[in-house]
Amino acid sequence: MDTIAIRQMFPILNQEVNGHPLVYLDSSATSQKPVSVIEAVERYYRQDNSNVHRGVHTLGSRATDQYEGAREKVRRFINAKSSAEVIFTRGTTTSINTVAYGYARKFLQKGDEIVITPMEHHSNIIPWQQVAKVTGATLKYIPLQPDGTITLEDARKTITTETKIVAMTHVSNVLGTINPIKEITEIAHKHGAIIVVDGAQGAPHMQVDVQDLDCDFYAFSGHKMCAPTGIGVLYGKRNLLEEMDPVEFGGEMIDFVDLYDSTWKELPWKFEGGTPIIAGAIGLGAAIDFLNEIGMEQILEHEQKLADYAMEKLQSIDGMKIYGPKKRAALVTFNLDDVHPHDVSTVLDAEGIAIRAGHHCAQPLMKWLDVTATARASFYLYNTEKDVDRLVEGLLKTKEYFGDVF
Ligand code: PLP
Repeated sequence: MDTIAIRQMFPILNQEVNGHPLVYLDSSATSQKPVSVIEAVERYYRQDNSNVHRGVHTLGSRATDQYEGAREKVRRFINAKSSAEVIFTRGTTTSINTVAYGYARKFLQKGDEIVITPMEHHSNIIPWQQVAKVTGATLKYIPLQPDGTITLEDARKTITTETKIVAMTHVSNVLGTINPIKEITEIAHKHGAIIVVDGAQGAPHMQVDVQDLDCDFYAFSGHKMCAPTGIGVLYGKRNLLEEMDPVEFGGEMIDFVDLYDSTWKELPWKFEGGTPIIAGAIGLGAAIDFLNEIGMEQILEHEQKLADYAMEKLQSIDGMKIYGPKKRAALVTFNLDDVHPHDVSTVLDAEGIAIRAGHHCAQPLMKWLDVTATARASFYLYNTEKDVDRLVEGLLKTKEYFGDVF
């Protein structure tokens, strides 16, 4: 399927913003939604809306079938062994916190180590800081190379027999760095540690095979992969999920409740207390169907070409500073001369171009880069070289506009 045909499936892209055709370059923050996903959610609310796993009426069975059907689609999408290993959550943040609360707080103690990297999103830093405070474990960082990558040699030095958890992003939302998760997993396992992968920027863009990676946990968000907001996934190996405590207690996650004690449902429902995110899960199922129809390989190939094109074009702008390695995912983080990224974003917005400006929920990384903020253009399957050209035109205008100031 060509990109023009793909674009037409995203109604939001077919509009003018501030008098210009919209160029949406903020998919790392959240992706746009195709018609099939919007319709799946609408169909559910129009025809099938009901709670799941409760009543025995027809709507209840339809809703339950679709909700559990979506779980099976996720299982296949990431090649988990069993759908019991697929927990629906609110998103990556909730997924990582579930591991921090349900696993780390239970099993870590003083003297243990948690190893992360300085390129992590706040969602994969703060939960571990909190675990370290509560358990007395130590938080350690694998250092970054000047280009924003990590080396296996440094990983081998940082991960020790005291390490109990390695938590790492699959793809950096700022630098575009793609981390060697399979190799890091091997190192972690050799030392008896488990690995938690932040897949927020991984799963939407590349084929993820959790069995091949052999990772212990993999967290991702639906809204970054064409699904609605409010739905995400925590994949976990069954034995670890079995050992973990639930983190939310209440309806639907119980097996038996007595006056003074209760027992939990089996996996995955032990972790899904309360009415789950039914419409969101159904939307995620539709998003997976959509991505599969196009093909994750084709999506990755398209994005890689676009990233190369964007790098080449942006590098040619005088005063441009790009952060991160050469080989990267489909996003470019940059600063232009001394123009504040918020100003860059504001001028681009006037041209109908949406990018992200700020610290990208990665303040430690900003400190490492020695900046307070950056601009970021991020791409997805619906972006074209024309979008990159419009970005370049917009940046040249920005330079012109601020030319008198600097
Ligand atoms: N991790 C990374 C690398 C991200 O880019 C994001 C969101 O931008 C998150 C975690 C948090 O995702 P969410 O806000 O969907 O929980």
